[in-house]
Amino acid sequence: MFADRARIFIKSGKGGDGHVSFRRELYVPNGGPDGGDGGRGGDIIFEVDEGLNTLADFRHVRKYVAESGEEGGKRRCHGADGKDLVIKVPEGTVVYDDESGKVITDMSGDNRREVILKGGRGGCGNMHYATATMQVPKYAQPGQPAKELWVRLELKVIADVGLVGFPNVGKSTLLSRVTNARPKIANYHFTTLNPNLGVVDLGDGASFVIADIPGLIEGASEGVGLGHEFLRHIERTKVIIHMVDAASTEGRDPVEDIHKINAELEAYDPAILTRPQVIAANKIDAIWQEEGEEGPVERLRKEFEPQGIAVYPISAVSGQGLKELLYHVNEMLKEADDKPVIFEKEFDLSSLGFDRNLPYEVSRDDDGAYRVEGPRIEKMLGYTNLDSEKGFEFFQRFLKDAGILEKLEEAGIEEGDTVRMYGLEFDYYK
Ligand code: GDP
Ligand code: MG
Repeated sequence: MFADRARIFIKSGKGGDGHVSFRRELYVPNGGPDGGDGGRGGDIIFEVDEGLNTLADFRHVRKYVAESGEEGGKRRCHGADGKDLVIKVPEGTVVYDDESGKVITDMSGDNRREVILKGGRGGCGNMHYATATMQVPKYAQPGQPAKELWVRLELKVIADVGLVGFPNVGKSTLLSRVTNARPKIANYHFTTLNPNLGVVDLGDGASFVIADIPGLIEGASEGVGLGHEFLRHIERTKVIIHMVDAASTEGRDPVEDIHKINAELEAYDPAILTRPQVIAANKIDAIWQEEGEEGPVERLRKEFEPQGIAVYPISAVSGQGLKELLYHVNEMLKEADDKPVIFEKEFDLSSLGFDRNLPYEVSRDDDGAYRVEGPRIEKMLGYTNLDSEKGFEFFQRFLKDAGILEKLEEAGIEEGDTVRMYGLEFDYYK
């Protein structure tokens, strides 16, 4: 089954909450706070697995959730850390944010393993607050929330050379002849539904990887048929071989075919057309030509050689002309930019997980204290380490910037009044 694209949901583990507890000793009525810290939530990690070459596994499992950290315990017990979740992908998988379409990362080249979503930090238990400047022993920090995201995976194969052409022109036949790949060969359309990769070995250490980009048909760039699914495999190739059926065994016109395919490539991504091209005029063993008549190879040459595109007459079946074609391609590769095409990161993962627009509410307790609660406060507390002076400053700034202090003043708060937020209690001073 064809599968080089998938959409999955990923979520890191939430950090475990800090614990609130007090030492209980015989004859000691009020022991100090001894609530332990929560454990770290597990990360979501992407890793290249050499044994994989499709994204088929992602058709069955779409949700990937790392383990959450455990809550801290009594007697300073640290909660257990959540396990990381490692998602294995084939080399060449590009990960996109599904909503914005921006590139999160490209799992190719040196990038073999990358943490995509960090698990939440565990919250501090109330044992940390024993000596704080503020008396807040009933407060323990909530664990940092999990991060979650829908991502799109696209496999864009890593090949030096892309072999393009309409169905049945002989791409698979060529690949099976000149490489170690064993693609299906048949004269009906869409037999080859996965891009086939093969290594061409020219001896003397010269070799390159060639990819049969199957199913390229008219309208491919607009998503007609399956063609569109395969165009992305061309994105990383450095040289393009156009294959045409020079014998017109199915009535196709080879000159017209190249124009059509280039129009498709251009519509998909104009940058592709800047890469060097060569034409393989296939099936020359089957050309039937009148004496004195202009043959298809001459027509191709007249049309494309002025544009610097060489034409090689070949027969993928008999092997005629293959050597010349492959040596020429090898020369083109030597001249081409040898940097691999790596997709740059566009999506800022640090923007995830904290939404400043979450709701919260100010209310009054029976004793007159002001209570501020809601997801916005809860999340903020998870991010802040009130234990440190910096963290506390950050929290105060947050109260001001988020307009929470203003809200409290609107509600009539005065100096010295008590404010409560999830067990955190402090007196209000301007
Ligand atoms: P693809 O769809 O481009 O991969 O085409 P295939 O490699 O599956 O070939 C389609 C048909 O063309 C098959 O029946 C092949 O045997 C035939 N074919 C491929 N190359 C040649 C060739 O050089 N000469 C002739 N006469 N037939 C060929
Ligand atoms: Mg084929």
